[in-house]
Amino acid sequence: MKLVERVTGGTGIGGPLSLVAFVVVLLVVPQMLSDYDLFLATSALIVALMVQGIGMVTGRAGLIVLSQLGFAAVGAYVFLLMRIHLGGAGFLVAIVVAGLATAVVGLLVGLPALRLRGVNLGILTLVFGVTVTVVLTTKGFPGQSKAYFADRPDWLVADKSYFYLCGVVFALTSVAFALLDRTRLGASWLAARRSERATAALGRSVARTKTSAFALCALVAGLSGALFVGQQGTVTVESFAPVTSLIIFAVAIMMGARYPEGALLAGALNIFLPVFFDDLNISQNVPNLLFAAGAVIGLLHGRGAAEDIRHRLGRRFGRTGPELAVASADVAASGNGAGHGLAVRGPLTVGATRSDHAARDVPALEIRNLSMSYRNVRALSDVTVVVPQGCVTAVIGPNGAGKSTLIDCVTGFVRDYEGEVRVLGERIDLMPAHMRARHGIRRSFQQDRTIPELTVERYLRLAMPREASAQTSPEELEDMLAFFDGPHPSRMLASVDVGSRRVVEVVAAVAARPAVVLLDEPAAGLAAAESMRLAEQIAATPARFGPAVLLVEHDMELVQAACTEMTVLDFGEVIAAGEPREVLADTKVAKAYLGQEVMA
Ligand code: ADP
Ligand code: MG
Repeated sequence: MKLVERVTGGTGIGGPLSLVAFVVVLLVVPQMLSDYDLFLATSALIVALMVQGIGMVTGRAGLIVLSQLGFAAVGAYVFLLMRIHLGGAGFLVAIVVAGLATAVVGLLVGLPALRLRGVNLGILTLVFGVTVTVVLTTKGFPGQSKAYFADRPDWLVADKSYFYLCGVVFALTSVAFALLDRTRLGASWLAARRSERATAALGRSVARTKTSAFALCALVAGLSGALFVGQQGTVTVESFAPVTSLIIFAVAIMMGARYPEGALLAGALNIFLPVFFDDLNISQNVPNLLFAAGAVIGLLHGRGAAEDIRHRLGRRFGRTGPELAVASADVAASGNGAGHGLAVRGPLTVGATRSDHAARDVPALEIRNLSMSYRNVRALSDVTVVVPQGCVTAVIGPNGAGKSTLIDCVTGFVRDYEGEVRVLGERIDLMPAHMRARHGIRRSFQQDRTIPELTVERYLRLAMPREASAQTSPEELEDMLAFFDGPHPSRMLASVDVGSRRVVEVVAAVAARPAVVLLDEPAAGLAAAESMRLAEQIAATPARFGPAVLLVEHDMELVQAACTEMTVLDFGEVIAAGEPREVLADTKVAKAYLGQEVMA
């Protein structure tokens, strides 16, 4: 299947097995329940479907959405419209259209998410939910004033059949979400959750990543709204109270909504626990308080109950799926200096870099007269640096000299600068960060920004353009990692030490075969011997893999061993540039560094 990447995470063999288990339970449950309990179980499935949406936006992309009932109300509305006006068009068609229409609404609600984050985004979605109920309170649902009853077709009249239908919709969305998890989009959701900057640096559009999560979240909520109408026959706005969204969100966080079993448990708990307390004549506030407490525990713990169980099983058996399976054997073999010689294997040939198509005398990267201020701090003044193709150029300078700011400007994370940036002759100043990444600029960050939920190989493939990934075999990636003394490609990034994760970040930037790779202090935290090895590896990178390198570094020895050209920044200005030997002999340079040592 083209959609699915060759190397993926996901549930592996566990997926089909749990699907079979779910189908068996689905068939058995109605035989054991009374009519009333079957009705409740159907409601639980409908809520579970809604919870899967929270698993999408919050569980995967790390955004807060508090408007599930608002989305469900939209779905219910569209479903009723369809049934009243196009009755003959079919019950299932109406459900699907309701879901799709709600997805479009979700896309629109997701647009502000491009600017907002965290609690602010949560409040915005809550406001959306409230707005929907306010509008519906005055307008009412279609057919409400005429007491319209949404009849089910003959084959769905029996409650058992309707229960099966809800189960099938839940299973289908679970499978669809699990398949999406394996795509590049699926990896991008996890990336955006970890760091939006890192996502853009990988060439992925943060906007598309976030809005797609919102649309899918709304889609399943819309489906559940339509199924709810089909179950009840008629609905009022009270069924979609915004406070219910909050309760469902709390249960979802408590149980962990990212996986189907968590969504199912959340749905069941949300429906059955209040009934149980009601039978005991205990106030309805008690289950809600329990949900709130459970959500707090889930938040403190970083994962809900179902996610926790998967995590523990994965650690215990190490084979619940590739995402969780971390072969303990290669933990020992990992880390830097695992014994791969620099020239053990032949150079890689797959994956042309952008430079292959450009004339050799066009610089890989030209930074001309770049100036930038943070409010009243002048971080860069009139900086010019040129990185020829096939070369390693270093930018050095004391702390606060503006080195990271220079990388941020060039890669598009800071855009209100003056001056020009060209990649292989093409001006890129108007492009956002992810477009610059696609146009041949890749970077590493000073702090680790890899995505712990992915394997090393999946992370590298996410970083690579799609075609390059398709052309690169697992062995080639393994060779590349080995060249940089990186961890084995099958390792989960969460289980890799920080030093190796930084190596993986460097490999990812190189593996994308850009015109130029910008490395922000890659040797920070490395021991002297490791740092010298890294210098050799960086020096060999252009000839071996293609990209030119702009190396920002503090470590003088590494810089001298790795680069052929050097630019020195001090207080945002270029104070010297040229060959390392000449530059380091310059008295201004010595003074800049000496000054820092005196201060330190
Ligand atoms: P370097 O990477 O060379 O250590 P930076 O580029 O991080 O230097 O910082 C350059 C200057 O800009 C410093 O004076 C620093 O305090 C300032 N600076 C960096 N980031 C910000 C920011 N986000 N807001 C305001 N000032 C900043
Ligand atoms: Mg810095």
